[in-house]
Amino acid sequence: MEKKITQNMHTDKPHEENAEEYDLAIIGCGVSGANIARRLSVYTLAIAILEKAADVSFGTSKGNSGIVHGGFHHNKQYLKTRLEVQGNLMFDQLQRELHFPFKRCGIIVAALHEDEMPVVERLYMQGVENQAIGIELCSRDRILELEPQLAPDVLGGLYAPGGGIIEPYRFVFALVESAQKNGVRLYTNFKVTEARYEPSGNTGCWTIQAADGRKVQARYVVNAAGLFADEVSRLFGGEAFSITPRKGEYFLLDKQTAARPERVVFPVPTGVSKGMLVIPTVEGTVLVGPTAEAVDDKEDYATTTEGLEHILASGKTMIPALRQTDVITNFAGLRPCLGEDFYIEASKKAPALVQVAGIQSPGLTASPAIGEYVKDILKGMGLTLTEKSAWDPFVADPPRVRELSPFELDRLIAADPAWGNLICRCERVSEAEIILALRQGHHTLDGIKYVTRAQMGRCQGGFCTYRIIKLIMRETGLAWNEITKHGGASQVLKAVLP
Ligand SMILES: Cc1cc2nc3c(=O)[nH]c(=O)nc-3n(C[C@H](O)[C@H](O)[C@H](O)COP(=O)(O)OP(=O)(O)OC[C@H]3O[C@@H](n4cnc5c(N)ncnc54)[C@H](O)[C@@H]3O)c2cc1C
Repeated sequence: MEKKITQNMHTDKPHEENAEEYDLAIIGCGVSGANIARRLSVYTLAIAILEKAADVSFGTSKGNSGIVHGGFHHNKQYLKTRLEVQGNLMFDQLQRELHFPFKRCGIIVAALHEDEMPVVERLYMQGVENQAIGIELCSRDRILELEPQLAPDVLGGLYAPGGGIIEPYRFVFALVESAQKNGVRLYTNFKVTEARYEPSGNTGCWTIQAADGRKVQARYVVNAAGLFADEVSRLFGGEAFSITPRKGEYFLLDKQTAARPERVVFPVPTGVSKGMLVIPTVEGTVLVGPTAEAVDDKEDYATTTEGLEHILASGKTMIPALRQTDVITNFAGLRPCLGEDFYIEASKKAPALVQVAGIQSPGLTASPAIGEYVKDILKGMGLTLTEKSAWDPFVADPPRVRELSPFELDRLIAADPAWGNLICRCERVSEAEIILALRQGHHTLDGIKYVTRAQMGRCQGGFCTYRIIKLIMRETGLAWNEITKHGGASQVLKAVLP
């Protein structure tokens, strides 16, 4: 049966023998690659993003705390701190242009023991030094006024009103949509496995090959491959370094929980991590975590009983109202660790290659500034940047049933009954929204989940998964056994032989 995919944002078909030519290829489409692509789309450049997964934001950028950090956790001697502070300030304008869920709800650090107060004071001084927005040292009364859900034995703490929360995957989707609108081409299912450089005159050219044989050529390359940036560097003859994964496990609590704080609540950090947080997500749920455990396997997203018990016990010390009965799911993310700081530099070994590696926390916060920083590196390497006259910063902001008044919804249903057919009841997502996501090229269950929130509610897809599968089949022509959770071999339906 011929596939009837109508409008596809992704290029995932094998194409003509000759490799397409680009000025710049960006390997990896997490939040780093997406910001770099969008920032560079301002210029008259041919740009390709090469992503090995079936959709964008399927790496570390999907499984994190979703916090826009407040600029006080680290010293500004680190590049990551300078980019965090700069990135934080860029989110308001980005939200106006790209409409992703983002709220400056503020961040609290709560001290529960006397010996934690000196650490809080040090964080405060660091925040002042870093020019973090409106940072405040708080007495017990003040911190309880800011967050009445806190344990009554809290001693004081710190308040960073410039910190916030964001839906990380919606941020990446919007950045990519904007980049594509401005001419960037996205290749999905494009796992870079080979690279060859041919010098010619002043500028040479990379030929980059994917596992399925597709090829593109590019004069400059950015390695933003997250956990696999070490392997990509090797393919290009770049620096030898090693990325080690550090797992963070989470609990997600239902919107109905009584334990939802108004602001992000941090404990006083330990040397290894920022500690176990209680996060009021921008969509109304509550996230508790993450753990911090070094693991060997870059694909190990398993959660553990010990990890989850530890999360709840730690969370309750700060917000006593947390209840296990409010938990609707758990998941894990992997930090791509490489020393203490980000590694963002022009390669000294491989020609025309920029390394964007070791982007662990606060990579999401820093990502808009990473785009700016990489743009300057590429300019310094000789890439000519001429602004386009018609660059458009805005993307469309399609309606979402859960945000509409009954009158607005009635008007949409009158024009198209698909707006009235609720596919996901928990998150109130209509057939029309799923169809829109499919037409934008999101053909996996996870892709549709991250774009629309269908399958993310209390029943975790118990009601809607089957209905979404039928819509994918109807809209794309894919057969039932071709529907995957997140691409590759993650088929969700298999034939059971008698
Ligand atoms: C538990 C946890 C909590 C965090 N919390 C926060 C937070 O609250 N705030 C914050 O600011 N930061 C946070 N971070 C950090 C943040 O999530 C990361 O810094 C950020 O997502 C990294 O994005 P990236 O684009 O560099 O990497 P990724 O998102 O991993 O993207 C890399 C992409 O490269 C692709 N790729 C890999 N190899 C290849 C190849 N050979 N060919 C083609 N493509 C390839 C992958 O498929 C992937 O999509 C957290 C991280 C974790 C794990």
